[in-house]
Amino acid sequence: MQKTGRVKLPEGKKVAVNIGFDFDAFSVWMETFKQPSQANMSRGEYGAEVGVPRVLKLLNKYGIESSFCIPGHTADSYPELCKEIINQGHEVVHHGYVHEDPSSMTMEEEERAFIKGLEALGRLDVRPIGYRSPGFDVSENTLSLLEKHGMKYDSSLMGNDYYPYRPRFCNVNYDKGNVYGEASSIVEMPVTWYLDDFPHSEFIGTRTGMKPQSQIYEIWKAYFDYAAENIDGGMMVVTTHPQVIARPHNIVMLEKFIRHILDNGGWLTSLRKIYDTIIF
Ligand SMILES: [Zn+2]
Repeated sequence: MQKTGRVKLPEGKKVAVNIGFDFDAFSVWMETFKQPSQANMSRGEYGAEVGVPRVLKLLNKYGIESSFCIPGHTADSYPELCKEIINQGHEVVHHGYVHEDPSSMTMEEEERAFIKGLEALGRLDVRPIGYRSPGFDVSENTLSLLEKHGMKYDSSLMGNDYYPYRPRFCNVNYDKGNVYGEASSIVEMPVTWYLDDFPHSEFIGTRTGMKPQSQIYEIWKAYFDYAAENIDGGMMVVTTHPQVIARPHNIVMLEKFIRHILDNGGWLTSLRKIYDTIIF
């Protein structure tokens, strides 16, 4: 069975919430979608030029510390902007080098990309303690690599909704029943596509999001309200992207969601702050 942890919440708070920002810029179009046309790249450019400043302004307005998952390629493309994120007190999380999919790589290739990402963040004087895999894809080697390189937590898996847990090593073998082995030392801060703005909102060829923001708000609010009423010592991770969430209709929705969380016992903070309180 899964080993789950509990978050030690500050007095009066009901649930920890991280609204994080995956600052993918160009990289998601280069590797994940493999469509680096100038038109698509300009969507990444929007995320950097317009999205990040707008998001930082909103976080500042409410005094919220958050987490930015930054691929090495973004750190190398926009070092000044990344420094601004860091200077405002936000956490930087490892997010690959150029948003490459670990599940399609050998262990050697995956480790090379991991180290390249780490080195790029190092040029910003950042040593991350957390990792989010690009596209929430991991390989059977990812947990071992995270342990080897001293990571403390991961935020890419979906084995729970409100409780952090120790993810188990997975070896898919259809002949032997349960595919899971021992628990790793990594703490998983679970995510879900339901709490990710990208599929809800973006238009990518035939994969059409384009939902009205009222529908996204409805899902996210219901997720939060359930936790506030039913879950003790839980947390909730919302994954957003500056190139998506900063669009005017979405940023208005995000602010409404932030206000709802703050007015109803939510502890809005970074993944590292939540990680520091987790007890197993
Ligand atoms: Zn990403």
